[in-house]
Amino acid sequence: MAAEIIDGRKIAERIRAELMEDITRLQRDKQLTPGLAVVLVGEDPASQSYVRMKNKACQTLGISSEQYTLPADIAEKELLELVERLNRDEKIHGILVQLPLPRQIDEQKVIQTIVPEKDVDGFHPVNMGNVLIGRDGFRPCTPFGVQKMLHLSGIDPAGKHVVVLGRSNIVGKPLAAMLMQKHEGANATVTVCHSRTADLAAVTRRADILIAAIGRAEMITADMVSEDAVVIDVGVNRVDDPGSKRGYKLVGDVKFDEVSQKCAAISPVPGGVGPMTITMLLYNTVRSAEAFAAL
Ligand code: NDP
Repeated sequence: MAAEIIDGRKIAERIRAELMEDITRLQRDKQLTPGLAVVLVGEDPASQSYVRMKNKACQTLGISSEQYTLPADIAEKELLELVERLNRDEKIHGILVQLPLPRQIDEQKVIQTIVPEKDVDGFHPVNMGNVLIGRDGFRPCTPFGVQKMLHLSGIDPAGKHVVVLGRSNIVGKPLAAMLMQKHEGANATVTVCHSRTADLAAVTRRADILIAAIGRAEMITADMVSEDAVVIDVGVNRVDDPGSKRGYKLVGDVKFDEVSQKCAAISPVPGGVGPMTITMLLYNTVRSAEAFAAL
């Protein structure tokens, strides 16, 4: 039987509608408009496209977004000075430095220069630490989006075996930490897999909830999932598509056509985790503005 489709766009719309009300309230009661600074270094087409989408989403909601576009050969010092300036800027409640950064720049140094209170990407070690110990703080947007997506689809990870494929700092690790917490929307038994995992398929077949974040186009096939599984596909991979205008198309880490004929529920690519990630960035920015308004 065909799987239920977990529609990330619809769920994201629901959250964005609530955020719009929060923004209206902030403007009315506190005369404050949430502000996001987006810093783009270089001309990587994927990064440019992500930044465009983030700015557009901000505009639609009524978040004021300021974009800073810097040349690829910028000195680390200059970038750090910009971040420090944004840290002090009262109109800015969230700072996002689009990753990856050019080689001459130490990414961790940049992330650690953003004050944790404006780190709406949730990558600062203070926010990462809070994820691990289960305290409040900004959650990294993609794992947060996956958790919200499960929750708002009525899928409770409590007591379930969640298999996370991938152990990156931005997706796999924080997601595993979030889903194992002793909290609502978590309480899962989590297994994390990576490129050195032996017999991956034997592990993935035991997943009640399988979350793929490996960056390998359509690697997860139907024989790797069980019939009752919920499959969340985080992967975004470009594959050649000579028939299309762009010459490529985006596919996930999961072979959607065959897995969706077998498992219980699945999120598609595009239209799954992607819209949730951007929405959680907006969510974090609004929460940050509210926290500043309460000071
Ligand atoms: P990384 O490349 O940083 O991490 C990939 C992880 O997958 C690593 O832990 C790696 O293992 C593991 N891996 C790679 N190949 C295999 C394999 N054959 N078998 C098992 N594990 C494997 O990627 P990210 O976490 O940054 O992103 C993952 C995917 O998610 C990408 O497609 C990315 O584009 C997408 N993404 C989507 C977002 C969205 O909003 N939808 C946001 C962020 C990312 P090891 O550690 O051993 O190298």
